[in-house]
Amino acid sequence: MAILRVNGIDSGDENAVVTEKPVFETSKSWSLKNYELLHERIERLIDEKTPFFSLEFFPPRFVNGVPNFLERVERLSEGGSVFVDMTWHMGSDPANIDKVTSSSSIAASMLDYCGVDTMLHMTCVQYNKADTLKHLEQAKAMGLRSILALRGDLPPGTELEDTNQFRALDMIRWIREEYGDYFSIGCAGYPLGHPQAPSYKADLQYLKAKCDAGANFVITQLFFEPETFEKFVADCREIGITKPIIPGIMPIMGYESIKRIAKLSQLEIPDHILEDLEPIKHDDDAVQKYGTERCIEMCRRLLDNGSAPSIHLYTMNREGSIREILKALGLWKLEGDRVFPWKNRSQHPIRCLESVRPIYWSFRPRSYITRTRDWDQFPNGRWGNSSSPAFGDVSSYYLSNLTVSLTK
Ligand SMILES: Cc1cc2nc3c(=O)[nH]c(=O)nc-3n(C[C@H](O)[C@H](O)[C@H](O)COP(=O)(O)OP(=O)(O)OC[C@H]3O[C@@H](n4cnc5c(N)ncnc54)[C@H](O)[C@@H]3O)c2cc1C
Repeated sequence: MAILRVNGIDSGDENAVVTEKPVFETSKSWSLKNYELLHERIERLIDEKTPFFSLEFFPPRFVNGVPNFLERVERLSEGGSVFVDMTWHMGSDPANIDKVTSSSSIAASMLDYCGVDTMLHMTCVQYNKADTLKHLEQAKAMGLRSILALRGDLPPGTELEDTNQFRALDMIRWIREEYGDYFSIGCAGYPLGHPQAPSYKADLQYLKAKCDAGANFVITQLFFEPETFEKFVADCREIGITKPIIPGIMPIMGYESIKRIAKLSQLEIPDHILEDLEPIKHDDDAVQKYGTERCIEMCRRLLDNGSAPSIHLYTMNREGSIREILKALGLWKLEGDRVFPWKNRSQHPIRCLESVRPIYWSFRPRSYITRTRDWDQFPNGRWGNSSSPAFGDVSSYYLSNLTVSLTK
């Protein structure tokens, strides 16, 4: 009998039989034959015409929110999320892996604990090249193989000229130069053009440059009308952008929060939506119901007419409405019967090799968790429990660092 050893530590279970030995070494690339890089999986699903979904989260603000957060990610990803992603939130001290709530630490925990392929957002405008390479090296050491390469926004009061002026395109080039094909790289696209772009057309050309430099897929900024995305995809294809374009969808979950997010993102909420919301704006339940229904309608259209291969939901760390949307769209897949007493970790670069896990890893009772999963549907300060994954809502989101004073 062999004993499972990870990082030189025995599982302690003498009955554990190991067919292959996962090794975690920071200095080496993991070349794991069972792991399919994220962009390859995305391309395969598109070829197979299988619609899918993915979910964005932000780091919980406090340490006492981390267990609840990870449970939530796990429950949501069990519905069949092809990947989850973690925003790069400057307020979390994002690169500090000694801090439990940093974006990097949380992303590593999502991968390790939830076993779902995890993409870490990374920004570069606040750093230099050496810092960015260090962040990438850390991500690699933690097993992360997917990066959303972003410029990032500037702290309030800073102008672009005051910075090193590195952009997402620089980071994509650095990743390809230093790491070859090791990482799957996503980049951001703006269906209405980035607010700082000289023009919509220039923005499209800039997106093409990011794809040509090695980005494997595009995730878009949120938008409110399906036509906006349909036109964007058509325009991208026309100028020769061939990479998958995944719509970033933010369901309206609250009246004040969507107004704030739109303002920070420099987006206009269409009048007809504001008119719909006006009479119900003080009724959280009604606003959420409206947002959920609108979201389902828009996603259904984009999936049905083929303009979107999948749906990327900005969850704002919520659970109830996200699950409802995915179920209504027929994207929610409950895990089938487990062959082993543990979950198939096929999306985890190391765990996909394991055929045996020590007994103490067996799955946990979850009835309590299931009963209480919707308790913080409206984290707007009324209940304000700091251990809620959604605690802080918009103020915990990366957008809270934004300055809207930047000129076009
Ligand atoms: C899906 C998604 C996820 C995000 N996640 C985060 C996050 O986790 N943390 C965070 O802080 N922010 C995040 N953001 C916000 C993002 O950092 C900001 O929108 C930022 O202002 C731009 O980042 P970018 O990577 O799109 O920038 P870039 O692509 O580098 O550039 C932004 C725009 O500047 C213009 N531009 C740049 N260079 C040129 C050039 N040479 N010529 C002409 N035009 C040029 C282009 O129009 C371009 O679209 C996210 C955005 C999206 C859409």
